[in-house]
Amino acid sequence: MIVRCLSPHVAMAQTGCTRLDWRQPYRALERVRSTAWTCGCRATAYELCEGGGQAFIRRVVQLDTGHEVHETPCWPIAEARTVWTALLTGRAR
Ligand SMILES: [Zn+2]
Repeated sequence: MIVRCLSPHVAMAQTGCTRLDWRQPYRALERVRSTAWTCGCRATAYELCEGGGQAFIRRVVQLDTGHEVHETPCWPIAEARTVWTALLTGRAR
């Protein structure tokens, strides 16, 4: 059986790409749901999380010792989706 990836992978970061402000997670939004995510086959996976008219991006790095989670600050959803697209295409990381 051939296992195919169903979710997107992030492109390689471009030179001079926007550096996102990755912070320790804190519960800034209630009732957050993931509306997009990258493939879990990579050591680093990203999730777009939305709630209450705002959104942020969560980064989960798989380590031998467990998970390392970081999150961006919140943006309005439209802006967060723009950043999400930039992340997928390597224009932000
Ligand atoms: Zn994959």
